[in-house]
Amino acid sequence: MKEAGSSPLWNLIPEDVRNLTEILNSEGYEAYAVGGCVRDAVLGKEPSDYDIATSALPEDTMRILKAKGVKTFATGLKHGTVTALSGIRPVEITTYRVDGEYRDNRHPENVRFTASLKEDMARRDFTVNAMALGREGIKDYFGGISDLEKGIIRAVGDQEKRFKEDGLRIMRALRFSSTYGFSLDEGTSEAVLSCRKLLENISRERIYSEFTKLICGRGAGGILRKYREVIFEIIPELEICSGFDQRSSFHLYDVYEHMVRAVENVRPYPVLRMAALFHDIGKPECFVMGEDGEGHFYGHAEKSEETARRILRRLKADGETVRKVSLLVKNHHRQVEDMDKAVRRALAKLGEEMFFPLLELKHADGIATGKPAESEGRHWEAVKKRAEKILSAKECISKDRLAVGGRDLMAEGIPEGKIMGQILHALFEEVLDGELKNEREELLERGLMLYDEYKNCRTDLRK
Ligand code: ATP
Ligand code: MG
Repeated sequence: MKEAGSSPLWNLIPEDVRNLTEILNSEGYEAYAVGGCVRDAVLGKEPSDYDIATSALPEDTMRILKAKGVKTFATGLKHGTVTALSGIRPVEITTYRVDGEYRDNRHPENVRFTASLKEDMARRDFTVNAMALGREGIKDYFGGISDLEKGIIRAVGDQEKRFKEDGLRIMRALRFSSTYGFSLDEGTSEAVLSCRKLLENISRERIYSEFTKLICGRGAGGILRKYREVIFEIIPELEICSGFDQRSSFHLYDVYEHMVRAVENVRPYPVLRMAALFHDIGKPECFVMGEDGEGHFYGHAEKSEETARRILRRLKADGETVRKVSLLVKNHHRQVEDMDKAVRRALAKLGEEMFFPLLELKHADGIATGKPAESEGRHWEAVKKRAEKILSAKECISKDRLAVGGRDLMAEGIPEGKIMGQILHALFEEVLDGELKNEREELLERGLMLYDEYKNCRTDLRK
């Protein structure tokens, strides 16, 4: 519901969040929507969560909200945070506070509550995140609106000191810059670069979470180029790729630039973007100079897969992401001809879910050489269509879709065991290659024929 007489931006804040601030106001306390939700409201974007800052102490916040029937949880009392569950989402309500001295480049030793909204805003990381929104409009003490308009990420206060306090802000600065396509203010940019070693002290989970958002941002390519030294702090394996001349007539760029270009040419999904960023990471280790004067990289897909897996594990990526990125990297060099046989085989190898991302990666890989074949786009489009046709016809692309199973073969007299597995596998391969129809009678007949061949071969061997 729209409130009469209030700022238009205030009406972008959902009613349940506004209600919480109004309950606190009605008891004489200040309360504002703060942080990312204000930034996103001004940008016209959907915030990922809502935070409230209030002059009320946590115990007062809990008492007042409880009296109005709002469920509250003491989720971070030490830091002044109470979580309220009034509507469809949890909302964090934090008492205005000033952070004490920082230890371990990440956590303040202690916090002190304050009655000043401005002091609370001053402890926040960037000007665009240091604004408060209330019924009457925005409180902007550090030029956040102007920086949003100019597209700038600027640390609040003494830039270097702010990154030294908390090294995670380095990743946050790059993440915001990437997701909004903003640039870093000059001083912030220098501080990010000069403080990069502090990332060593930051938990890998937090780094990974920011990194994932960073590479899915629209400015990802620019950040990966301009702040490569920062990226190398968290992924040192990339450093050798930067400036690594491929000595290849197929490539215009060094390995790092090639991978960054691949990132820019796949859609912003974490698995795809990470696969693009790591797909050739093993190349420098595999480089050999051919007699033809061309650089060759035999086995680089496997090497890259191994390295990508190690990086993702170290960064504490979830198992699903590790599996999918590894699969794409390992197969990125695989040929996929525009033929039923080839497409069915690739579908069987990759599975339905990862086949299309592989096509996307391969297409991006081609573009990122800087010398793509003119027909490349058409080729991948044709392969995609062919795969869609194969899938919609429910053709057999996995063993469980084979029209016969072990039991059927056993009924024909083929014994259970290793040989049975081999026969089923051979049948599946012949179906994939289109040499055999996926029909019961045909498969049984061929299965028996293979069994005979096997038996004869065994007899031969015994002789
Ligand atoms: P997102 O859109 O990802 O939620 P956000 O800026 O809202 O971005 P949160 O982690 O939700 O990020 O933090 C809420 C607010 O808390 C920030 O906008 C900022 O004001 C402050 N903040 C968060 N992390 C830090 C930090 N490391 N240092 C200083 N202030 C921070
Ligand atoms: Mg937020």
